[in-house]
Amino acid sequence: MPEGNDAVRFECQKCGACCRRQQLLITLNGRDIVRIARALGLESDNMLKIVDFMILPQGATRPEGLLGTPSAETERGPAVLALKKMRGGDCAFLENSLCLIHAARPSVCRSFPFVFRRDSEGTYWGLSAQKEICPGLDHGPEVEERQLSSLAAAVLDDMDAYAEFVNEWNEGEPSPTAQKLIAAILMDSRFRD
Ligand code: SF4
Ligand code: SF4
Repeated sequence: MPEGNDAVRFECQKCGACCRRQQLLITLNGRDIVRIARALGLESDNMLKIVDFMILPQGATRPEGLLGTPSAETERGPAVLALKKMRGGDCAFLENSLCLIHAARPSVCRSFPFVFRRDSEGTYWGLSAQKEICPGLDHGPEVEERQLSSLAAAVLDDMDAYAEFVNEWNEGEPSPTAQKLIAAILMDSRFRD
């Protein structure tokens, strides 16, 4: 991940390219799932229909974009949760280049093309490995450090809450299933705004 203090210009062109990219996984954390469920008025059974459970093979090297994404145990193995895509790679919530769940869109959609990480030394931002598809880069005004800091804090706080939940889930749930996982996420007070 490029880390930075370099100036970057960005203004979203609302082209929807990031919503159509097959290789871009729209990963979900606990707060994403709760926000979408609320926005659509869905219970856990119906949420299961819009979530993909990406099972990572044991011992496989994780793609760089998934390094900070926790895997939750399911009946098929540890899974990264993501929004379902249509055949061809379009997000299931994209219609006429518009997002049908814009106000409740997941963290990765809010932050693209930026990515963030935090360690004991501080918080770092970089650009997505898929940045070349984004015509918003090099357009508009320079992004201010405080804008990135505020976005990073929101994204990383959501991820921290999910990582804490997943640790407890993986250690404490004796018979994990995808269905129970979604139900537990929807019940967890950490994920309520
Ligand atoms: S690809 Fe870039 S410019 Fe296009 S919608 Fe996504 S963030 Fe905006
Ligand atoms: S949730 Fe909305 S913003 Fe995110 S990929 Fe789907 S259509 Fe695009």
